[in-house]
Amino acid sequence: MSTGIQNLVGLDRQELEGLARSLGKAPYRGRQLYHAIYRRRSTGIASLTDLDKDFKGALTARYHVDYPRVQAVFTSTDGAARYLLSLQDNTLIETVYMPEEQRVTLCLSSQAGCAVDCRFCFTALLGLQRNLSAGEILGQVLAVANEREILRSARLNLVFMGMGEPLLNLAQVMKAVRILADPQGFGIPLRRITVSTSGIVPRIGEMALDPRRPKLAVSLNASTEEQRTELMPINRKYPLRELLRACRAYPLRPRELVTFEYVLLDGFNDTDADARRVGELLRGMRAKVNLIPYNSGSELPYYASPMERVLAFQEVLAGYKIPAYIRISRGQDIGAACGQLRLKGMRNGATTP
Ligand code: SAH
Ligand code: SF4
Repeated sequence: MSTGIQNLVGLDRQELEGLARSLGKAPYRGRQLYHAIYRRRSTGIASLTDLDKDFKGALTARYHVDYPRVQAVFTSTDGAARYLLSLQDNTLIETVYMPEEQRVTLCLSSQAGCAVDCRFCFTALLGLQRNLSAGEILGQVLAVANEREILRSARLNLVFMGMGEPLLNLAQVMKAVRILADPQGFGIPLRRITVSTSGIVPRIGEMALDPRRPKLAVSLNASTEEQRTELMPINRKYPLRELLRACRAYPLRPRELVTFEYVLLDGFNDTDADARRVGELLRGMRAKVNLIPYNSGSELPYYASPMERVLAFQEVLAGYKIPAYIRISRGQDIGAACGQLRLKGMRNGATTP
């Protein structure tokens, strides 16, 4: 369904400079375009006022600034909102908006669906549809910022914890991260961008070498090799021992920590003995743990641990001097957990904007 019109969202500074040059303009015209698209979030070429008329005319014929379309919004009583976004080829993805007092966190998708097949995860049930392009990743930020009228001065936090395994789409994710972190682009500091992975060990090593690497979060979710393999079959390929070695080698900036996410599943990985093993595994690391109460659903045979278990788990980790935060899932009433949006969005017709 190609219209022959290309989307400018997703092009980086060099590419836009090249585009300007190809249209007979000076490279700085490309930089103006870059600034207008990402920094000022201009939505139409016509509104790019600092471009000369000639250039605008040439651009309009062949390019547009296109965001993913908001297909449905599920708003939670706690202020969080899940966006079901539709891409140019009608692929559906989810982005979650979570307002807090001093900042807004957006939870981004890196793929439509996921191939990793974690047993407790709803995105896994979809399988992998396809990778998202850098433009589709940036488009999530632009579409939600636009819809919510998020001020350019607002403190934005980005987490790649939506659909998909970001490290299996690393080139596009890193291209998006560079534009997001660029002061001339979105201007979101790297310390406020977190990429979460199920543990694709060689890609963690690759990210570690990049001076513009985002913060690392790892879905630990288990305290032994066997338990993790049962929950996350990827552990067979990249065992816990190697994963932790890669995490220890990940370079950290001052005050930065590696985040370990631990989804607590009732009677499966939530005992005091599990917590002690996690304490041992993370000993001596600059790490923190996010304890995530599970969002359950009828399709999968796991249940959330009771809150007293979650608190006990946290207490054991405190004994190991490991900071552990209970991440009360935002928007539980709207199923804001990873991957639930797509499934629910398909089944019951949500409110369309
Ligand atoms: N693929 C990446 C990022 C997306 S998943 C990863 O696995 O890290 C983001 C987080 O959501 C992971 O820590 C995962 O363990 C968690 N998660 C998945 N399904 C969940 C559910 N139903 N309830 C709570 N957390 C869930
Ligand atoms: Fe994929 Fe992450 Fe879900 Fe595992 S938890 S299936 S890696 S999205």
